Amino acid sequence: MSSCIFCKIIKGEIPSMKLFESEKTLAFLDIMPLSKGHSLIIPKHHGGRLTDIPDDQLVEILSVVKRIATASGAENYNILQNNGRLAHQVVDHVHFHMIPKPNETEGLGIGWPTS
Ligand code: C5P
Repeated sequence: MSSCIFCKIIKGEIPSMKLFESEKTLAFLDIMPLSKGHSLIIPKHHGGRLTDIPDDQLVEILSVVKRIATASGAENYNILQNNGRLAHQVVDHVHFHMIPKPNETEGLGIGWPTS
């Protein structure tokens, strides 16, 4: 979708810190990280909500989420996927957040649980 910011990242029209790329999936660092290593894992297929994404893409994404979580070295982390404005979705291209939780005292930032 031409106006979608994540589609532009996929096409290389907007720069990103890529962590992983395959035919169907892209992972990159979030530009406004809630903690060090906060990453986004997205399908290359444009879809606004989880239910818009073909099953085969979702299967691969979950495996990439695992790969990124492992590579981060984080022992504690949150995997999050927002759908809709009331659920705090801002970018209408499905994405999974992988948010390392640094330690018990730092927390993850505003809006995120600290325990
Ligand atoms: O789940 P939600 O839609 O709220 O999250 C969107 C995420 O996309 C935010 O964490 C934001 O920092 C990130 N983002 C990004 N690069 C952009 C635009 C948004 O990493 N160019």
